[in-house]
Amino acid sequence: MGQRWTVVGGGVAGSVIGARLAEAGAAVTLVELGVDGATPDDIHEAAQIRGRTIDGLRVRRVEGGPYVSYTAGSGLGGGSAINAGLASNTGPFFLPHRLPVEGEGINRRVRRNGSRASVAEVYFKGSQSKAEIRTSTAVERVLMDDGQACGVELNSGEIVEADRVVLCAGALMSPLLLMKSGCAVEGLGRRLQDHPSVALKYRNDGLPSSTLTAQRAGGVQIIETVVGDEVWVVPALMRPTSTGVTGANENGEIEAQFRLCQHAGERELLLASVTKVAAEHAHRKGIDVPRPGWEAEWLMDRLASTTPVYSHATGGCCMGEVTDRLGRVKGTENLFVADSSVFPAIPSVNPMVPTVQLAETLSDRWRDSGLVSG
Ligand SMILES: Cc1cc2nc3c(=O)[nH]c(=O)nc-3n(C[C@H](O)[C@H](O)[C@H](O)COP(=O)(O)OP(=O)(O)OC[C@H]3O[C@@H](n4cnc5c(N)ncnc54)[C@H](O)[C@@H]3O)c2cc1C
Repeated sequence: MGQRWTVVGGGVAGSVIGARLAEAGAAVTLVELGVDGATPDDIHEAAQIRGRTIDGLRVRRVEGGPYVSYTAGSGLGGGSAINAGLASNTGPFFLPHRLPVEGEGINRRVRRNGSRASVAEVYFKGSQSKAEIRTSTAVERVLMDDGQACGVELNSGEIVEADRVVLCAGALMSPLLLMKSGCAVEGLGRRLQDHPSVALKYRNDGLPSSTLTAQRAGGVQIIETVVGDEVWVVPALMRPTSTGVTGANENGEIEAQFRLCQHAGERELLLASVTKVAAEHAHRKGIDVPRPGWEAEWLMDRLASTTPVYSHATGGCCMGEVTDRLGRVKGTENLFVADSSVFPAIPSVNPMVPTVQLAETLSDRWRDSGLVSG
C-alpha cells in the first residue's frame, strides 16, 4: 500500500489535491465537513442548502467593526458548489487546470453546457481517482507526535491515522486547525485578505433572474446580479493592500478581522466607484443606495456592517512565512497546507481558478520531489 495521506476539506483545493494524490497511487482519505451532491446554478439558492455553507461564521470586516455573517462554502466542492464561477484570466500566470470555462474576457465562468460544474465533480467524478471520501464529518485537530503529524482527530473522537496530512479547509478554517493542533508558527493567522465590496441595491426593473455580468476597469470589478426582486450592483477592489488577522477566541471559534480599506487610497478608489455607480443607476428605484453627497458615510457603514457579496478570503498560512514552497508547515516534515490560506497576497482576479492552479502546482511539486509514491 502507498503512503496514507489525509486531506482535510473537500472544497476547491481539497478536490484537486485528493484526486491528484489518488491518481499518483497514494492511499487518500478525504474528510469533508459538509454534504455531497449537486447544487442549483443560482448562487443565492445554492447557499441556502444545509451543509453547503459553514454554519454561524461571523467576522469583522473593518478594524473594530461589528461582527457580520460571512459566507464560506462547505460540502464537496466547497466554494465552487455555491459560487458564481467567475473566472477571468489569470493574466500572464496561466497554469493548466481541468475546469471547463465558458464565456469571454471578464465574463468567463466555470461552467459546463451552461450549468455549474463544481471542482469536486470535475476532479473526482471525472477521473479514475480512488480516494476514500467521508462527508458530513469534521476534523477537530491534527494529531502531532514529537512535532510531526500522525493523523487527525474527528469531532466524534475517532482518530484517522496518516503518514501525511494536508489542510485544505479554506482561509478561515486552515489557520484555526493549525492553532487547535498546537502549531505555533511565526506568521500564522496573518495577512488575511478579501476583495472589499459593497452592494448598491435597486428594485428589479425587468432583468432576468439569471443576470450576472461583470466589468472591470483598473483595479475595480463591478458585478450586476439579480437577487430575488432586487438588482445588486457591486463594486469591489481587486488589488487591495490592507491585511487583517485570523485566530481563535477563548471558545476555540474563529476570530477573524479583515481590516478592509485601512489605507486612504483604497477608501478613495472604492468611494469613486460607489459614486459613479450611484450616478449611472440613478434612473432606477433605489432600495439601499447612498444619498447624493453622503456616499462616503454610506460606504463606510455598509463596508463595516453588511455581509459581503464577495467572499474571497485568502491568507492566514502564507507561503514563505508559515509554509515552505511545498506548502509544508515550517518545523514539520509531513504537515501541509494547500488552499487559499497559502496565498501571501490575494490574487487580483476571482480566486477560485488561482486556488485550483495553486493546488495543481503543489501536486506537481510533491510528485517532482518524490513526496508522493504509490
Ligand atoms: C458565495 C461565494 C461566491 C463566490 N464567487 C466566486 C466567483 O464567482 N469566482 C471565484 O473565482 N471565486 C468565488 N468565490 C471564492 C471561491 O469559492 C473561494 O476562493 C474558494 O472556494 C477557496 O477554495 P478553498 O479550497 O481554499 O476553500 P473552500 O472551497 O471553501 O473549501 C474548504 C472546505 O473545507 C471544509 N472544511 C472546513 N473546515 C473543516 C473541518 N474542520 N473538517 C473538515 N472539512 C472542513 C469546508 O466545508 C469546505 O468544503 C466565491 C465564494 C463564495 C462563498
